[in-house]
Amino acid sequence: MIYDLLRDEIKGFKNYEVSNIECKYKMDANEVPFSLPESTLENLQEIVKSANVNRYPDPVSIKLRDKLAEKCSASKDNILVGNGSDEIIHIIMNAFVSPDDFVVYPVPSFSMYRVYSEIAGANKVEISLGEDYHYDVVEFIKSIKEYDPKLVILCNPNNPTGTTIGRDDIIKILEVNRGITVVDEAYYEFFGETVIDLINKYKNMIVLRTLSKAYGLAGLRVGYAVSNPEMIGCLNLVKSPYNVNSISQAIALSVLEADTVKDRVEYIKNERKFLMDGLSKIDGLKVYNSQANFLLLKFDDADYVYNKLLEKGILVRDFSGDNELSGTLRVTIGTREANSYFIKCIKEILS
Ligand code: PMP
Repeated sequence: MIYDLLRDEIKGFKNYEVSNIECKYKMDANEVPFSLPESTLENLQEIVKSANVNRYPDPVSIKLRDKLAEKCSASKDNILVGNGSDEIIHIIMNAFVSPDDFVVYPVPSFSMYRVYSEIAGANKVEISLGEDYHYDVVEFIKSIKEYDPKLVILCNPNNPTGTTIGRDDIIKILEVNRGITVVDEAYYEFFGETVIDLINKYKNMIVLRTLSKAYGLAGLRVGYAVSNPEMIGCLNLVKSPYNVNSISQAIALSVLEADTVKDRVEYIKNERKFLMDGLSKIDGLKVYNSQANFLLLKFDDADYVYNKLLEKGILVRDFSGDNELSGTLRVTIGTREANSYFIKCIKEILS
């Protein structure tokens, strides 16, 4: 069997599955409910034409890196662009993690930290988040001292809990970790705190960002890493040559130039408060405080609620079968219409 030829690390893997159920309200994948900015839509034909798709894309995304650098007060030598930040996590693993190296990350958190660690054949050190899914920095530091890991990953705000780790605690970790520290800021725009300003002080730190969330470009697959030039050079050694296609590069540039993100983030943050306030008044569920564009909710019977929501045309992410998240569902903040309807449905289901 071909399966028998698989590397031992890969045997037993399951496909990354996403729900493909068609629903009126898609609130499962931490996307934003907006389409491209007007100025990008108006110029779409020009943008696609200028992408010259008969040629290979710019392998190092120079124009896009320039623009991203401007946005985060850095230089283009501080930036690497990836086919989504997913790809950059994989690049980091490929560059730095050998079989049997230790990788430290929180659980519950973004599932790909575990998957890429397993593909690398690393030893996983999974640090449970504490009460109400808050980071326990003492546990992180204890593990770093014990295992001297090659890689520590922090997700801030954390997906799927929405909880955060404070700057002082990140610095405590940076002070003790001799390996690489990744701070995944995929949801940064909804939170507002960053450690990008520390990239030259802590040369072994990489900050990860994405255009999939606040910028609404999940379908284009554009993520980026911010770090010091030596680190970026090391990551470039293992990056595939033409990893980001030219249409994605061109549209991403246009969207960054349109500068609509601030208003959109304000809208989502306002809706997060609306949803949080509405849900907190309902008996029979627990709502976790979130700094991202989603809320984690806990129910006595999450499966029942998930299926009832589906019947009513709402798709959320079901984590109820997950060991560290049992009883929980994650809902992505949507439009006012979607959020009002969600609150109404939850009231009906739990009454
Ligand atoms: N990091 C975190 C914390 C995420 O939640 C996600 C997407 N779910 C990613 C990285 C990957 O994002 P993308 O590949 O779309 O940039």
